[in-house]
Amino acid sequence: MFCAKRVFRCFKALERLGNRITGAAGPYFVGLAVILLWMGTICFFDVIAPSLSYPLISIPLCLLVALNMHAHYFYVCTVKPGFIDDTPAEAGTSFLWAKRKDWYNSKSLTGGVRWTTTQVTPATMTRCGRCDKSRPERAHHCKVCNRCVLKYDHHCPVRINQCVGLHNERHFVLFLAYLSVATFCVGALGYNQLIDSFISYDGRWTYHVPEVMYGMIYILSVVLCFAVTVMGLWHLWGISNAETSVESHDHEQYRQRAKARREAFVNSYDLGRKKNLSLFFNIGENGYPLYTLFIPFRILPYTDGRSWARPQGLERHRGVRAGEELTDASDDEDY
Ligand SMILES: [Zn+2]
Ligand SMILES: [Zn+2]
Repeated sequence: MFCAKRVFRCFKALERLGNRITGAAGPYFVGLAVILLWMGTICFFDVIAPSLSYPLISIPLCLLVALNMHAHYFYVCTVKPGFIDDTPAEAGTSFLWAKRKDWYNSKSLTGGVRWTTTQVTPATMTRCGRCDKSRPERAHHCKVCNRCVLKYDHHCPVRINQCVGLHNERHFVLFLAYLSVATFCVGALGYNQLIDSFISYDGRWTYHVPEVMYGMIYILSVVLCFAVTVMGLWHLWGISNAETSVESHDHEQYRQRAKARREAFVNSYDLGRKKNLSLFFNIGENGYPLYTLFIPFRILPYTDGRSWARPQGLERHRGVRAGEELTDASDDEDY
């Protein structure tokens, strides 16, 4: 028992060290990611774009994909995920902000409840075991940021150097989607130029970017395309189930616990796949127009993170007893 505790403490110390190192290296990763994204964009428009058919249609479409990819990456790195002690965010007035369909009605609603036809109930409040602050359900403590984040999904040190939470999760998923499309375009449309870059000794390489840079970007794009598409689909699957990354893990445990009692676990945020997706992207009824998925405008989430949409008559998860909810402190219980 004593030995097990020492091993556990050792792992915890290593985890803390890992958090510190990734936290310190985060800005360098982001700098590298920005350079690679721009290198990829320059390679595409210098080498691949001139060979595309129907340039009057294909070039503007490619420009739109590139614009969305860069804009959502910028947003996901700069828009704060939403910390519990921040004042609730308000929509900006600059041209970067999309206008809601039903702006007049939405303004008359209070308490973060911005949907009128779906039951939206205030979140249960708990106290964080680490920072000792009162927080609404779905908020979790990030060990790297050392703060509680609204609708915490995960901390991403390598790509964005901050948490993914309520206010930037939409940008994160859209960035993955557009990165996936962009890398697919490089892989699918730039193969002939890759061959040219290998046999360029006869002077056939007439582009501005060096052959080595193009070859490197092409190979990186193919690898990234697979990785990012799988990751994006995994996130979309979670969103369609109304689960964050943390919740998909927690709900699996609730499901097993409920099953052992011959009960069924019901996620109280689940309003059906279509509604879950439209709530996440905040489009459709009382939300923002559909074009906000294709033009990188800033928008607000449907809630301020202190109340949640739920099916009628389901105020909390079914199949989980009071006190059984997993907390961030669960993994520290024996510490
Ligand atoms: Zn906390
Ligand atoms: Zn964090």
